[in-house]
Amino acid sequence: MIVRALTLDFFRNYLHLEARFAPGVNVICGENAQGKTNLLEAIAYLSTASSHRARYDKELIQFGVEHAFVKGEVSARGRDFTLEARLGRGVRRQLFSNGVRLKSAGELSGVLNTVLFCPEDLYLIREGAATRRRFLDTCICQLRPKYAEALAEYRRLYEHKTRILRDWEEHPSLLDTLDEFNLRMAQTGALIIHYRAHFVKRLREVTPPIHRDFSGGRERLDLRYETVSTVTDPEGSPRQILGQLLSHQESHRKAELEARQCLSGPHKDDLTVELDGVSAKAFASQGQTRTAALSLKLASREIFFHETGEWPVLLLDDVLSELDQRRQEFVLRRITGGQVFITCCEDVGLNRLGEGKTFRIRDGQLVS
Ligand code: ATP
Ligand code: MG
Repeated sequence: MIVRALTLDFFRNYLHLEARFAPGVNVICGENAQGKTNLLEAIAYLSTASSHRARYDKELIQFGVEHAFVKGEVSARGRDFTLEARLGRGVRRQLFSNGVRLKSAGELSGVLNTVLFCPEDLYLIREGAATRRRFLDTCICQLRPKYAEALAEYRRLYEHKTRILRDWEEHPSLLDTLDEFNLRMAQTGALIIHYRAHFVKRLREVTPPIHRDFSGGRERLDLRYETVSTVTDPEGSPRQILGQLLSHQESHRKAELEARQCLSGPHKDDLTVELDGVSAKAFASQGQTRTAALSLKLASREIFFHETGEWPVLLLDDVLSELDQRRQEFVLRRITGGQVFITCCEDVGLNRLGEGKTFRIRDGQLVS
């Protein structure tokens, strides 16, 4: 997958930008606050219709302006696509592929896939399980449309069951439907666990060698999928998992009614990360945290390539800071294959990456 060209109008601090990119490495350089991250954000938006750092689309529209436009020319699976996003204040965003209006953001990932690494990804290691679940979900959704459907269904059921548990004392008749919700949540949950377990299995094969190489052979990374305690084999068939989920629900029924919360199900799953046998969340240094997070992201990119035969576009924001010389070298070696965008403040000799292009950004404009 290659983003050949990008046009921005009123996106963040870009009044108007037109750029053509190299199929290999594109280095985006500039001082702080000039628009480097904004440029990567715009590319990512064309694959997900969301931003890693904006809660609402309107944040992406230039201050004092009503609309913003992002347009990309993309080559994927031997075909050319023009993807467009039109954003407006107070109106729903519109997405187009070759001029045809798309019904959902999911259709974008049928054309363009991106893997973004940004400073916020340190939370992937440091924060609670929710960030790691989101990482798994984002990866699997891009690979398996069925998973995306199951996840959306599970979220609907979860919200509904949460309302039942919250209000049952005031409205006891709500309990009549609880068994039905439990069954449907267990069915959908079993599918989710099955898919997650298989993806983690691939991650466990691919990530540790990347991390080992990255740390010069000095660190061992281990991953473990943690799900509902009664599930004996998460990689087993959804049918087998279903029974085990139902028995967990049954044993937590009283506790759920008392706590008025959903306590049983894969919405509490985690992916634990250990470095040399100790929890990375609790003990990893700044550089190790960054290394582990980056290893996970690079692994997801390689898995995607093995599954689909196409490299997703890699967006690396501020990836080199805090890494020692050797780890920097490793990153630059490992990102060959596929198109890459990498931001940096200094032109730190990234041209040694071979074929590619360097862009200088100043105040929302391309200079030279
Ligand atoms: P750094 O090296 O510090 O990460 P950067 O080049 O990545 O800097 P960006 O995050 O891309 O910088 O932001 C550039 C500028 O865009 C910021 O000064 C910010 O105030 C501005 N900006 C963000 N959102 C908008 C918006 N909606 N309208 C106008 N300007 C915006
Ligand atoms: Mg930035």
